[in-house]
Amino acid sequence: MTQSQTLPVMPRRVMGLYDKPFWDHVQQRNMCLQRCGHCQAFQYPPGPVCSACLSEDLNWTKVSGRATILSWVIFHRKYLEGYPAPYNVITVRLDEGPIMVSNLDGAHPEGSWIGAHVDLHYAAMAEGLLLPRFKLSAKQ
Ligand SMILES: [Zn+2]
Repeated sequence: MTQSQTLPVMPRRVMGLYDKPFWDHVQQRNMCLQRCGHCQAFQYPPGPVCSACLSEDLNWTKVSGRATILSWVIFHRKYLEGYPAPYNVITVRLDEGPIMVSNLDGAHPEGSWIGAHVDLHYAAMAEGLLLPRFKLSAKQ
């Protein structure tokens, strides 16, 4: 999927107390995660303190966009209008450490997807919002 394509109507985002800065950065095509100024750990989802050391010294820091697939599934039944079947859901570990759930766009790995290297891209939703998704990396 290219960045110029628009996805069909997607479910509305549910914003938690600490989610707005994350989505603001995504909208600017500049995904950032909270990084602890004390132990340097990145964390996702965002929260009030570092999940590793409980420090309140958290700073929104740009991530590389590189990740590795930890698990994947293909759904063959349509549950939501914006996700016609078949569609995939992947769990990735960002190079910075945190785990995210997303979708793989474009080409799929042959055989198992586990361990495949992927790169972040931003998919445009019908409402003009951007969604962080992944594509297979040229470097495997
Ligand atoms: Zn910390």
